[in-house]
Amino acid sequence: MSSPRTSDARRLRADRARQVADVIRRQVLGRAYPDGVLPDELFLAAEFSVSRNTVRAALDLLREEGLIERSPGVGTVVVSEKYPHGLDRLMGLAETLREHGGITNDVRAAGPVRAPTAVARRLGVADGAEVVYIERLRRLDGLPLSLDQTYLPMDIGAPLLADDLPGRDIFGLIEQHTGQSLGSASVELEAVNADLHSAAVLEVPRGAALMVLERLTRLADGRPVDLEFIRMRGDRLTMSAELHRGRGERRAPLPPARRPAQAGQRPLSLSDPAPPARRPGRRAAHPCPKGPPVALVNHRADVPVTIDESLCITGCRLCVDMCPLDSLAIDPETGKAHMHVDECWYCGPCAARCPTGAVEINMPYLLR
Ligand code: SF4
Ligand code: SF4
Repeated sequence: MSSPRTSDARRLRADRARQVADVIRRQVLGRAYPDGVLPDELFLAAEFSVSRNTVRAALDLLREEGLIERSPGVGTVVVSEKYPHGLDRLMGLAETLREHGGITNDVRAAGPVRAPTAVARRLGVADGAEVVYIERLRRLDGLPLSLDQTYLPMDIGAPLLADDLPGRDIFGLIEQHTGQSLGSASVELEAVNADLHSAAVLEVPRGAALMVLERLTRLADGRPVDLEFIRMRGDRLTMSAELHRGRGERRAPLPPARRPAQAGQRPLSLSDPAPPARRPGRRAAHPCPKGPPVALVNHRADVPVTIDESLCITGCRLCVDMCPLDSLAIDPETGKAHMHVDECWYCGPCAARCPTGAVEINMPYLLR
């Protein structure tokens, strides 16, 4: 059987052009050409070991993206800038882009609304409860970057309505008004084409690429306080992250004795017992040579936390999002929550937040 060869001259020029364009795009975004002028075609052809025609095709791709322009006598110049938005740190847009310019916000809507059921459940408030809705168009030095729709529980959002919504990140306002730090967030990112209205607001052509970020942010004690749907211009922002392989390299969450109590939960004291040692014989060896072994326990009944599937609401994931150990997961086949990893602090927010009482914590006798 013949294997694919990267040097095969029969590879389509379009394939090679895309390969070259992806590397040059990264160079442009990383400001590798400080004077904003790209090397000439002959240099690039030698650099990538391709023909001049392939280089031209690659540069055409980047010109169509609006990243560069080409003029006779001038050469190929960078004409637009993209700004990096980290996905590995919990920061607001103004904090993230501080070194690139000033963020201002057009506040398009701000006030109480009845929470849609899906929003209420993710924020852990009662179905039909009022929440604060804030919609802002965010600009960097006047240029529209993103359209943010934010839902906040009423006690968190109401004080923000009288504050500096045009000038500040909501993250900073939440921390200021609650006196607590934000702790973690669940993030989902997908690409969409701009609909007519979003395109007009963000000043891009209809159908332009947008990134939609859904972010549920929690206080340090695990309470969800900020659900956002952020439409970002794909031609202005680039998402970046530094990722590490292996469970053992994750930052360890605080032990339960140091974690603030959840609402309605007995505060933990120093005299509380340490997190229980894992019961012998429950753990399956994990192949990862670096991290500690992890016991995957899909659908066993004798686990620390059991979930009544008949009560679990498909589409809900509150208990999963609340667990500091990532011990719970949604079964992709049934859409129901279950204990996925045999790790538990018996700390309680999974059960406390479940709107249907589906979660049962099987507390060991010695901890009761
Ligand atoms: S067990 Fe409760 S909190 Fe967890 S996903 Fe099901 S309904 Fe939601
Ligand atoms: S009690 Fe619930 S939230 Fe706490 S560690 Fe166990 S599964 Fe996670």
